[in-house]
Amino acid sequence: MVHKSLSLNINGIKKKLSKPAFNLSVMAVNFSVIPRDDPQQAFRLRRFFVAFAIYIFNISISYFAYLAGIVDLRALYGLGIIVLTINVVLFIVFRSDLNLRMSDPSLTTIQMCAAILVVMYALYYGYKMQSILLSMYILILLFGTFRLYTSQFLFISGFALLTYGIDIVLLKIFRPLDIDLKIELFQWFGLAVILISVSFIGGKISSLRRELSVSRRKLQSSLSVIREMAIHDDLTGFFNRTHLMDLIETEINRSIRTGDVFSLAMIDIDKFKNINDTYGHQTGDYVLKTFASVLRSVLRKTDFCGRYGGEEFLVVLTQTDLQAAQIFAERIRDCVEKSLFPSLGPDSKVTVSIGLTAYKMQENIERTIARADEALYRAKNGGRNRVEVSA
Ligand code: GH3
Ligand code: MG
Ligand code: MG
Repeated sequence: MVHKSLSLNINGIKKKLSKPAFNLSVMAVNFSVIPRDDPQQAFRLRRFFVAFAIYIFNISISYFAYLAGIVDLRALYGLGIIVLTINVVLFIVFRSDLNLRMSDPSLTTIQMCAAILVVMYALYYGYKMQSILLSMYILILLFGTFRLYTSQFLFISGFALLTYGIDIVLLKIFRPLDIDLKIELFQWFGLAVILISVSFIGGKISSLRRELSVSRRKLQSSLSVIREMAIHDDLTGFFNRTHLMDLIETEINRSIRTGDVFSLAMIDIDKFKNINDTYGHQTGDYVLKTFASVLRSVLRKTDFCGRYGGEEFLVVLTQTDLQAAQIFAERIRDCVEKSLFPSLGPDSKVTVSIGLTAYKMQENIERTIARADEALYRAKNGGRNRVEVSA
């Protein structure tokens, strides 16, 4: 079968490749031992490599044990093959993301059990190095700290004790001269006490870590709520005055850099005091909320609005000159006039007056706002429900 040939640029040399070869080459070029795009997988692989380094370290010690005549060469080869097989399989599972399909993608328990089996093998053949090999169990349990529950630790400890027990039985059957059963039983019980204690301590450390990460998450979400509250007005959901002024500051800087003009619309609800007096303060609040949602529905994505005072809102029309702003302000005015305010009954109308101005380069923002205010004042005096412009 002939595949459409594709070319790959390797070190500046263009090569024509068939499609499967091309795909393989792309994989090879993109391959990294530790994944770059998934921090969690990267963490797991780094942890795997730490364990692998410990294996290599122990095999080196075993090699010296062989040189010293404590272990025989066949046992050493066997150890090497077992360790290599386990680690190659684990690496493939991690690097192919197969682990993500398992209930514990970190494969902590599996890695610990595999290590325990390696210790079992090493104990059988390197029995004279028993003291160091038994302490490996502690090292293996430490691998699960921060992650496993006490019950899982106990399971692993049980597995370690079982494999050690099997070693004792096998040695008693096949190499009875090598061991003293009485001492062995004492050691087994001693190890049981140590492993069970370590299991409880490890479980406690894990639960502390879990509690810590839960409270950190809660803290983060509270912090983001506080951040939101700090910049928004909670009745209308618009920005509060402080944040609005910060945003305007940013807009001025952008304006200076790009030369774009922006406009300000100062919007004030007409005769709002009457609404409060007639229907009560709570209904007044409802009207403010409804007004805010009407205004929000008209605003363009690039514009932003803040509650400037009680029933006064300041809209920043970005990249908008006075002429365009006028059309836009008229649309807001019209939309509010035509909107229904259910809390006031079917026939009542709410209107707004709008004062409009454009920011002039280099001027102080207070100056611009004062101009918008002055235009608003004229709109009120001119009979309300209208837009006035201050050039
Ligand atoms: P004008 O057309 O001239 O703007 O008349 P107005 O009655 O709207 O103007 P004025 O500034 O006299 O009254 C504004 C009222 O808005 C007074 C104040 O009690 C009310 N107000 C301010 N903030 C709130 C609020 O959060 N909720 C309610 N219900 N009323 C508010
Ligand atoms: Mg008003
Ligand atoms: Mg007012």
